Amino acid sequence: MTDINKLARPNIRQLKPYQSARSLMQGGQYIFLDANENPYGDGLNRYPDPYQQELKNRISSIKGVPASKIVLGNGSDEIIDMLMRSFTIPETENVIVHVPGFSMYAVLAETHGAGVREVSLDENFQPKLEHLWQQVATNTKLAFFCTPNNPTGNQLKPEVIEEFARQFHGLVIVDEAYIDFSEQASFIEKITVLPNIVVLQTFSKAWGMAGARLGMGFMDEEVAAIINKVKTPYNVNTLTIREALRRTQNLHEMQHQVNTIVKERKRVEAELKNLRAVLRVYPSDANFVLVKFRNVAQVMDFTRKEGIILRDRSNLPGCENTIRITIGTTEENNSLLKVLKKYDKQQTINNKA
Ligand SMILES: *Cc1c(COP(=O)(O)O)cnc(C)c1O
Repeated sequence: MTDINKLARPNIRQLKPYQSARSLMQGGQYIFLDANENPYGDGLNRYPDPYQQELKNRISSIKGVPASKIVLGNGSDEIIDMLMRSFTIPETENVIVHVPGFSMYAVLAETHGAGVREVSLDENFQPKLEHLWQQVATNTKLAFFCTPNNPTGNQLKPEVIEEFARQFHGLVIVDEAYIDFSEQASFIEKITVLPNIVVLQTFSKAWGMAGARLGMGFMDEEVAAIINKVKTPYNVNTLTIREALRRTQNLHEMQHQVNTIVKERKRVEAELKNLRAVLRVYPSDANFVLVKFRNVAQVMDFTRKEGIILRDRSNLPGCENTIRITIGTTEENNSLLKVLKKYDKQQTINNKA
């Protein structure tokens, strides 16, 4: 089994986390003259709780994970960044990412100076153990799996990720940004059995809080303790904490939106399949679909002129001639379908001429 503490960078292992005078206090009424804050205000005048205890307790009750196994960040991006900085020695160690996949892992690895080893998903966008083992070296510290995967939309086979995690000496990061739109079981329940698994989720998608920047990491306490050493003390701000506490009082609203989006995705998928311009609609478990078109450049141009912005993914290996389409409101989806039908019609006329 992985020795978590040995995995951390030696200089991080020796770090003592920043302690605010306040984090030593528990309960009670105090006069706070320790942090040079302005004494007047409605709470925003004070620094936030560095460990976000109240919000972690709420998330703990929703997810069934002890608060000690939760790390919150300024978006999942920040948690990924903290993982890079805690576990990889720049210019020396590396991480594994999948292609096609989410590009932030490589961006954050390279910013930190860690090497990036790309592993191709197979023709069904599934990870392959033999491809993974070809890339793993003794200086490989992290391996990223995104499921459901962005930009392909499919879930990765959980048995492959689990098998890999059992054998791999480093940390396996399972990014579940789109899990709420999927039927798949979360890897959260695996973190007690396999302490080298770190699960990432976010308030940016299903919870509709992309602008507030709030990411969640679920992990073994030892991994959490290491990340807490490198994290800046006030990484999640008071406004975001308040809003997340407010929204998480009521799970129904989020679930209702998710159900609507999933229903809309199925409708959009079916309609897209009827278009002449569309060659393939890839199966999705997320709030977007990857679509293969006959002529991506033309479709991007046409939809943009009609005021609709889509994401061209053609330049990603394995995603040639594809566009990623986010599922919007019913009205927005109708507008998109109307524009694509108009494009189809124009193409038919052009072909006849
Ligand atoms: C959207 C997304 C996230 C969320 O990132 P935040 O920093 O929490 O907004 C994470 N991973 C993937 C693959 C995503 O597509």
